[in-house]
Amino acid sequence: MVPASACIVGVGGLGCPASLSVALAGVKRLTLIDPDLVELTNLHRQPWHHPADLGRPKVLSAAEKLAQQFPRLPIDARQERVGAGTVEALFRSHDVVLDCTDGVGTKFLLSDAAVLTGGVLIYAGVLRFEGLAMRLQPDGPCLRCLFETPPTDVPTCAQAGVLGAMAGVMGGLQASLARTENPPGQAALHVVDGLELAIRTVTVRKRFDCAACGAGRKPVLTDVDDPSCLTPSTSPVRSAP
Ligand SMILES: [Zn+2]
Repeated sequence: MVPASACIVGVGGLGCPASLSVALAGVKRLTLIDPDLVELTNLHRQPWHHPADLGRPKVLSAAEKLAQQFPRLPIDARQERVGAGTVEALFRSHDVVLDCTDGVGTKFLLSDAAVLTGGVLIYAGVLRFEGLAMRLQPDGPCLRCLFETPPTDVPTCAQAGVLGAMAGVMGGLQASLARTENPPGQAALHVVDGLELAIRTVTVRKRFDCAACGAGRKPVLTDVDDPSCLTPSTSPVRSAP
């Protein structure tokens, strides 16, 4: 089922294709959130941003292009960083939130807020030639069920590099996951290998002792400031349950 409203957090490599895909799917209301300005290094993998947009807020650049293609779609463009004080409202005011960020801390903040509010979050991360994606929904596993703690030795996207085509694949996959519900108590982690052109799916189950969503637990939201990529190669995804 197509969600009526979607919030895209991050309008970069993932957020550009994800916003196009959810608009094509027929979403009725779209919110874009990103604090950053368009930079030269963004252009090769962030198709809403053109050379003439350099230095402009990414949300305005993306909203303009979307409005040209979908003139009847209401778009709320917010140039701001998602924080502990604002993140819960995003989940309460949208049917689905798409994590198109590249910061580990922000990804865990979004996951914790999804747990607190009972919202739906479509997580994704991409680095070099690999990508991960998973749908988080009420009563199912959260990001801390998968990774337990945020990895600390993660390079930034600028340091490690991202294949532009992989960001396009993963952003489109996020839009598909926004429409597909998980079985109760579990989720599918999709691991995409862009070099081998292979997709592996790992079943992730809710951990009863999860620090965020386990029995009797409640996550505490805290502000973060760590621009880095959640990388498949340095995180414990290989041993995911
Ligand atoms: Zn959990």
